[in-house]
Amino acid sequence: MSSRPTKPPVKTPRGAPPPSPAPLDKRTQATPPKPANGIDEALMEELHVDHGKVREEFTRSLPPLYPGDGYVFELPQPGQVPQLGPAANNAPWSSLIIKEDGVRGSGWRLFEHEGKRRVSVNVPLVLVDAPYRSRDRQGETHDFFISNMSFAFKDQKTGQADDTRQSPLYYLLRSLGSDMTGLTNQADYMAAFVACLGKRFKAQIDWRAECSAKRAARFYNPESDREEVADEKSAWGKIVGCGTKYRVEVGQKAKAKKIPRDAETGDLLSNFGCIGLRDGNECNAVLRVNMDLRNFRAI
Ligand SMILES: [Zn+2]
Repeated sequence: MSSRPTKPPVKTPRGAPPPSPAPLDKRTQATPPKPANGIDEALMEELHVDHGKVREEFTRSLPPLYPGDGYVFELPQPGQVPQLGPAANNAPWSSLIIKEDGVRGSGWRLFEHEGKRRVSVNVPLVLVDAPYRSRDRQGETHDFFISNMSFAFKDQKTGQADDTRQSPLYYLLRSLGSDMTGLTNQADYMAAFVACLGKRFKAQIDWRAECSAKRAARFYNPESDREEVADEKSAWGKIVGCGTKYRVEVGQKAKAKKIPRDAETGDLLSNFGCIGLRDGNECNAVLRVNMDLRNFRAI
């Protein structure tokens, strides 16, 4: 019978425990050792990076936030996005307006809608709280267009225009505590918005999509395995969209179609093939949804 080898007893070191590390002098803690010779000095020159001002290397294309209520957003801090204002050295508010067509990025735009001038602001909003479905997306920044253009609603019984509905920018500013009776022109809206920078509000995310009949549509090309714009230079020639509009919820009399859902999960699709008709055939243009904010309220 063999006996199991026994482990030698573990000897515990005797004596006093090692001294706990002495508190480091914060001034010297992160300082690298001085160069031993002159050659390294050039490599030791300080780089002076202001980490608070580092611009993103590329613009991320985040998937849109799923429709729902209870999203909390934070406006940029004052001065964080200079294009939003305030206008420097008492320059007129018009100096903040981006006039060129097709210019992307944050800022103000002045446009005309049904003969009336309106402003819209493209603003990056930080998601600080979200409903359950989007909880893991807190901290993301999403750009939103918010305008003081109010759509003309018509009373279904009388056919009269309902001017009691106001614009998204109106409801946003009101939720942030602005005195709306004092806002009488575009510059007033801009100033009120700038006064609210850094504040938070709660809102609902809505999706809409449109197969624009004004612009060249985008299609999937199986040969290149890519989505391509059907403009004059494309193999298809220029094909504009079929004009179909999509909403998450549509009323009985609405002309818009419902945004399609995934057949398996039932989730709304953030991009999909257009099911409108062009010359009797399914349009099939590739559409992406746009996010809208509504139901603004204070938190
Ligand atoms: Zn279409």
